[in-house]
Amino acid sequence: MRETTLPATSIGEKPVPSPRARRKPRPRAKQGPETLELAIRDLLRPGALRITAEPLSRLRDDSILAYEVRWRVPRIDIAPSVPEIWEAAREVDLVNTLDDTLLRAELEVARQLSPGAVLFEMHPWRRRRRGLVAGLLREVRATGLDPSQIVWQLVDQADEQDRLDTGPMFGLAAQLHERGFRVGLSQLGAVRTQLAAIGKIEPDIIQMDPVLIDGIDVDRGQRAVVSAMVGLAAHMDSRLVASGISSLAEQNVLIDLGVEFGQGPLLGEPRTVAGEGAEEIELPTPLQLLSLDDRPSLQLVTDTVQTVPEASPEVSYGAVDSYHLGMAEMLSQAARGFQSENDPNAILELAADYLERVVPSDGLSIYAADWDSGRFRPILARSVKDPTYAGAGMDHSFSLGTGLTGWAFDLGSPQRVNDADAHPAAGHVPGTTTEDESMLLIPLVSGDYRLGMLNMVRFRKDGFLAYDLTIAGLVAHMAAAAWRSVQLYAEQVQYAITDSLTGLLNTRWLRDASGRELAMAERSETPLAILMIDLDNFKHVNDSCGHAAGDAILRSVGRTMQKCVRAEDAAVRYGGEEFVLILRGCDLPAARRISKEIRRGLSEIPLPPQSTVPRVTASIGVALFPKHGRTIGQLLGIADAAMYSAKRRGRDRVAVGR
Ligand code: GH3
Ligand code: MG
Ligand code: MG
Repeated sequence: MRETTLPATSIGEKPVPSPRARRKPRPRAKQGPETLELAIRDLLRPGALRITAEPLSRLRDDSILAYEVRWRVPRIDIAPSVPEIWEAAREVDLVNTLDDTLLRAELEVARQLSPGAVLFEMHPWRRRRRGLVAGLLREVRATGLDPSQIVWQLVDQADEQDRLDTGPMFGLAAQLHERGFRVGLSQLGAVRTQLAAIGKIEPDIIQMDPVLIDGIDVDRGQRAVVSAMVGLAAHMDSRLVASGISSLAEQNVLIDLGVEFGQGPLLGEPRTVAGEGAEEIELPTPLQLLSLDDRPSLQLVTDTVQTVPEASPEVSYGAVDSYHLGMAEMLSQAARGFQSENDPNAILELAADYLERVVPSDGLSIYAADWDSGRFRPILARSVKDPTYAGAGMDHSFSLGTGLTGWAFDLGSPQRVNDADAHPAAGHVPGTTTEDESMLLIPLVSGDYRLGMLNMVRFRKDGFLAYDLTIAGLVAHMAAAAWRSVQLYAEQVQYAITDSLTGLLNTRWLRDASGRELAMAERSETPLAILMIDLDNFKHVNDSCGHAAGDAILRSVGRTMQKCVRAEDAAVRYGGEEFVLILRGCDLPAARRISKEIRRGLSEIPLPPQSTVPRVTASIGVALFPKHGRTIGQLLGIADAAMYSAKRRGRDRVAVGR
């Protein structure tokens, strides 16, 4: 029997996470320079290089955003992988010749696909060429293409310590943008890729690592990361592309998360456009071809706040290590953290916690925009350096249009002001220092809703970098989305328990919350009064004045009820023109007093002149807890009976249960 043994090196090795992840050239048998040169020259033959194009499609309707154009290597025994081919070309001094040939073949494909946009890989050898960007521009123009159709994908490169070597990428990205090219990033979500780096590169297109997409329909953690990336992309106006979509289930989850574009087997395999086996690629009609210039319509999608948060012990803020934090890790922590809070203040505290770790500052404050009063209301103010900052900040409410805060709020986009005193919009918060200050002013915006402002300050000029603003803006953007979703939930709850005509509580509230009211009274051994109020002869009001006037009067009745009860009491519209008041800590004399106030209030409601009823009156029945019963059913029954006895005795009066 033959023994099958694995090579020693592969035992215990982790599987490589992504097929595109780093491929180290394998050692190969040394070849003579003549053999190498022959093999490379063979690649330079016209038509020898195979170029494929794979569509990036819009998930909703299959419209095409761009094609990813790649180089497929024909089989060469001496250099079986792409890095080995480049290495071989270097050895025989044909690197630039090979790159020129490749570039021309790629551009020829781009010309065929015009007016669509194409994505090219900026491989490391090309990146090293002198005068690169000017040369690219020349070649592109010579082909009759517009540089804005071309997206150069910067593939990340790790150094020996496995850190992303981003320095040269920033410069290159800036030069490409300057000449009108687009910049793309791929493999986003691979752990090395850093948040700060992405902010600096300002990519037009970001492709997510296929590892994140594979199985996203079943993995909650992957969904949290992708959801955070949707926020990141929206924040930077980048197009986000999910790479490697292979099933409809994955695609549906991605659509739900707000991912707009994707590629992968489900959406179309790469097609060979040039070289051996080339095929005609069928271009979609212009209608289906999207422009890279359309603003992305990406939205940050968070789970609704009803979601019961899973215990996530791995989320530990102590582990956050400012700039060296992997971007996926940090974003997923933030996204999960925000999603598991359903109190706006807790979300904003969490945002401040994150920001303190990734963007050092001397002070941080958050204001809510109160649109009713037209003012900023302080929610949070922190400063390690200056204890007066927090106190003064929290005391300071000011009008929505004032100062630097109001200026940035009006603009609606994050602003960096590196000499706050010199800015024409600057005001001064009384009680704080007047030293030199730099500020980040970040509107908390979600969709069309401007919720508030997040400000960070450093007590010196030029205290913040551009990417501090990007990072702070991103965290603020995610916090704002979570804040808005909590608000929406609260609004929904409010809506569900409110009577639409009068704005009072409705019977759903009475059914759900009355038990709690009674339990509280029981526990605190305090009395509680229930008033059943039925308007007298309301049919006559309707008959003489019309139903619409009747409705208006019911609204006035609602306002009167609200005015007569305290904040801790409940006023419920029980039926058409019947109301129930639940009055906490209220004994019989107090119930009588409030009944009297209500009757006076009702009598002051103006009626149309044609009304056959001279004024609004009501019959009121009173039941007392615990005297008349211990359940809401018993108490309502007693109050109702008392109200009917008031009707029988001539209306416009109060009767107490027996
Ligand atoms: P009383 O209670 O004094 O015996 O006489 P009433 O005329 O008020 O009689 P009842 O309470 O039995 O009838 C309630 C009337 O209130 C019936 C209907 O015309 C009117 N009503 C009920 N709901 C509404 C409403 O939403 N809008 C208007 N405009 N009228 C309503
Ligand atoms: Mg009635
Ligand atoms: Mg009535």
